[in-house]
Amino acid sequence: MSDRLPGFSTLAVHAGAQPDPTTGARATPIYQTTSFVFNDADHAASLFGLQAFGNIYTRIGNPTNAVLEERVAALEGGTAALAVASGHAAQVVVLQQLLQPGDEFIAARKLYGGSINQFTHAFKSFGWNVVWADPDDIESFERAVTPRTKAIFIESIANPAGSITDIEAISTVARKAGVPLIVDNTLASPYLIRPIDHGADIVVHSLTKFLGGHGNSLGGIIVDAGTFDWSTGGKYPMLSEPRPEYHGIRLQETFGNFAFAIACRVLGLRDLGPALSPFNAFMILTGIETLPLRMQKHCDNAKAVAEFLAGHPAVASVNYAGLPSDKYHPLARKYAPKGAGAVFTFSLKGGYDAGVNLVSKLQLFSHLANVGDTRSLVIHPASTTHSQLDDAAKTKSGAGPDVVRLSVGIEDKEDLIADLEQALGA
Ligand SMILES: *Cc1c(COP(=O)(O)O)cnc(C)c1O
Repeated sequence: MSDRLPGFSTLAVHAGAQPDPTTGARATPIYQTTSFVFNDADHAASLFGLQAFGNIYTRIGNPTNAVLEERVAALEGGTAALAVASGHAAQVVVLQQLLQPGDEFIAARKLYGGSINQFTHAFKSFGWNVVWADPDDIESFERAVTPRTKAIFIESIANPAGSITDIEAISTVARKAGVPLIVDNTLASPYLIRPIDHGADIVVHSLTKFLGGHGNSLGGIIVDAGTFDWSTGGKYPMLSEPRPEYHGIRLQETFGNFAFAIACRVLGLRDLGPALSPFNAFMILTGIETLPLRMQKHCDNAKAVAEFLAGHPAVASVNYAGLPSDKYHPLARKYAPKGAGAVFTFSLKGGYDAGVNLVSKLQLFSHLANVGDTRSLVIHPASTTHSQLDDAAKTKSGAGPDVVRLSVGIEDKEDLIADLEQALGA
């Protein structure tokens, strides 16, 4: 073996996996079992006391899921990861380790709609208070910091318009405030952006989207960068204080630079329960093997479709950071030089009716509420995901009545453009 560090595509195929030691199976098997037999009573006791690593029960860990965890940690450049049942489950588990009731976290205003709901309503009922900031105005993050701030949450490529966030600038704010920066890297995937390289302390994903990539399995993951010191100022007692449920051990002291991933597993996943099915882990692992190939094709197709739309007389404007004229193009060149992702919005001169008309006429694009599928997807937010908002609120969140969102798939770009052409022209 040479001393070369494996490249990204090699890691996407191999990281975390080896031939199954008992059967020789080359693909990672689906360990479809709830529980695992202990070697003896001492072994059982040491597993329960966190003195040894090993399998106990699939709500806490599973060998198929472990391969997925190791692979995504490697792709993101983190120390460890924890797979959970969905992207939203990842967000709950992360914040549960960081916030006590009455605490605050700062979140970028441009987020996945489901995250806005989760933060505004569900998290409020836990006593976790979200304070919104504008990702285009870095000072708005500084102004939002208070003594109760425990974290900052942003998306790398942000919903709904695929805008690019200045991760390094916001990480500087987080450092100064002494809080971790959490980056939702779902729309970029580590192929396009590795937030840890730009100062993120925690990365979360909805594996449901580009990482799984085939629109067939829900999943989520948390990656620990291993960069944050949880012991300062008693701000993070879950990590720094003795844990009564584990004989008084302190997680940071015991587990060092992967203490956060351990806390998410042994305090978050164990007690909240959103475990990922090993079957879904298998589907997502298979998807990740082709992530670099798919992501490049997604980006190349998205750029071609955006260029076509920008030149079409029925289109008022296109928001795609991959176009040189776009306001986010300089940030895209810095953070995502291989491509600006495949999710973006455009607006139609014909307004609301033109949006409804377009989604009903498209044939190859599926009209549904998802992104990051091999198939091309379309949604008219004003008549669907954002229909409960008034017109002013729709426009403010980037989902005005004339706006259509695309998630461009990996079909032939000529076919996608032909479909848009017939639907726009008719
Ligand atoms: C879909 C999505 C989520 C939520 O993930 P689920 O797997 O649906 O729970 C979070 N963030 C972003 C950016 C998403 O696209």
